[in-house]
Amino acid sequence: MKFDGQMLASIAKAKQIAVFTGAGVSQESGIPTFRDALTGLWENFAAEDLATKRAFVQNPELVWGWYEWRRSRVLQAQPNQAHLAIAALEAFVPSVTVITQNVDDLHERAGSMDVIHLHGSLHHPRCIQCGKPHTLETGISDGPDGGRHIPPPLCTHCEGRVRPGVVWFGEDLPINEWGRAQRLARACDVLFCIGTSSIVMPAASIPRIARENRACVIQINPTPTSHDHQASYVLRGTACEVLSELRETMGW
Ligand code: NAD
Ligand code: ZN
Repeated sequence: MKFDGQMLASIAKAKQIAVFTGAGVSQESGIPTFRDALTGLWENFAAEDLATKRAFVQNPELVWGWYEWRRSRVLQAQPNQAHLAIAALEAFVPSVTVITQNVDDLHERAGSMDVIHLHGSLHHPRCIQCGKPHTLETGISDGPDGGRHIPPPLCTHCEGRVRPGVVWFGEDLPINEWGRAQRLARACDVLFCIGTSSIVMPAASIPRIARENRACVIQINPTPTSHDHQASYVLRGTACEVLSELRETMGW
């Protein structure tokens, strides 16, 4: 892949880089994107039918089972070359912040020091009633590959059901994280937008905010998305392919 010279110069002289990521960045670690996560037991569901508070209240075993299956996939996965390239950028640029929609912890495990989770985490569940955090067992559950129904644990404080620590459809983004992400989008010199279909609002407005504030917006995705027109550069390929090549070209 031949990279545009001006794009390389923008990265080389950037003081602040924001890296906005979605499910696609973890795809090459074997973590299914949203659409691909609806296999096995969940093939007859839409994400909107599982990732809501209403679904959890109506069928807690089904929804908790889906999240436990996803969490066990993450525990078995390793960060890939894309996560590692993003983490390595920190030695090359004065300030790098990852703004992720992902609920896995692969950026942190790759070594990224500053990660904003806009949609929460699979690893930090809490009580649906009193909000107290719940500690999960660290081992990997050996459930069937297609997943199974699992009753959620009960809160040790109030006996309410424990819910996944993620942001569901219809819920607000965590206010501090969202505020910081918007400020970074306004302030950064370069914004990478990697592996996100960007149809989930309001997180999807991050590339637009960056562009309106004259950042160089670099889009990395193997397929076209509805926000390609907002990018300064569109790099067609998987996150691992493109970031490995870029890292090699620039020597970071
Ligand atoms: P999405 O599933 O809507 O879109 C994934 C995007 O990644 C698509 O545009 C696809 O073309 C692209 N893609 C697929 N393989 C890729 C690769 N190898 N390299 C680069 N790009 C690739 O995901 P989204 O935009 O993140 O939004 C959906 C929601 O799904 C988010 O809110 C997120 O919380 C949740 N989610 C998270 C995870 C995770 O934590 N790993 C997994 C599934 C879903
Ligand atoms: Zn409780």
